[in-house]
Amino acid sequence: MSKDQYTVADPTKLYGDIDAPKQEQPEPGLDAKLQPRADHGENTYRGTGRLKGRKALITGADSGIGAAVAIAFAREGADVVLSYLPDEEPDARRIAGLIEDAGRIAVTAPGDLRDDSYCRELVAKAVDELGGIDIVVNNGGKQVFNEDLTTLSDEQFDDTFKTNVYAMFWITKAALPHLKPGATIINTTSIQAYSPSEILVDYAATKATINAFTKGLAKQLAPKGIRVNAVAPGPIWTPLQVTEGQPQEKIAEFGENTPLGRAGQPAELAPAYVFLASAESSYVVGETLNVNGGMPTP
Ligand code: NAD
Ligand code: MG
Repeated sequence: MSKDQYTVADPTKLYGDIDAPKQEQPEPGLDAKLQPRADHGENTYRGTGRLKGRKALITGADSGIGAAVAIAFAREGADVVLSYLPDEEPDARRIAGLIEDAGRIAVTAPGDLRDDSYCRELVAKAVDELGGIDIVVNNGGKQVFNEDLTTLSDEQFDDTFKTNVYAMFWITKAALPHLKPGATIINTTSIQAYSPSEILVDYAATKATINAFTKGLAKQLAPKGIRVNAVAPGPIWTPLQVTEGQPQEKIAEFGENTPLGRAGQPAELAPAYVFLASAESSYVVGETLNVNGGMPTP
């Protein structure tokens, strides 16, 4: 860990080896029980007013990448609505507290992204309580590995698409009437969109879909002054990985096959989202920003 995100360090040594023991949690998993805990930039992210007065809605904001984005957005001056599952209340409370410590408003909005009415209510709540929306981050996601398509249940296939793809559609559709020129939408895709793993066939398919959705919608909305982009993380240490995101035997070496030789931390993702959310990326549209430790992408 370095002093802040501007302090130069050797990226191969930053965070060292996470050396995670075997561990399993039921979905959706809690950061509070992750060993070791993930770094969301709690002690390091330094804001410089890049999102002053903006209003953001972030799904999966209680833990992992979404939590790091929520902290960074607040420290850059944004108010934040946090979406997460009711079981994740302890993680969400902690992140909401950090947003308030930054002097910003945190609105907690638990619910299930597989439910279209929750997705619409989430947007309505954001508009109600923050007085509008300027930034939508579709980040909540489900990843459960499966080694054999014949045992991949219809229910899992459906849940993965509902959570990763349908919720993005429902939320974006409901938010659009509220988005003004200068607003931004950022979707979390994955390296899996380009290099699908044989045990993540359903998940990888949703991430390729998110990429195509992002690029097509970006062209549709650019003339209206609304920018749509995506971030594609590589292996990042989050609760998703220990809730059957990976087989247990892969947890210890998670991320070691990247050119940097290590897994990333959620804190290392936040600056990419801040860049795409802020006015400094004004000419960046339909882009997928890869933050993956060096794995080549198209
Ligand atoms: P995470 O477990 O911390 O975050 C995922 C969040 O999704 C959960 O906290 C939960 O709030 C939310 N979620 C899941 N199912 C939900 C449902 N039915 N209703 C409401 N919320 C639900 O893990 P993360 O790794 O930070 O995941 C964030 C995003 O990053 C996901 O889209 C994931 O696919 C993507 N991603 C992660 C990695 C990685 O290696 N961790 C790599 C590439 C992409
Ligand atoms: Mg969580």
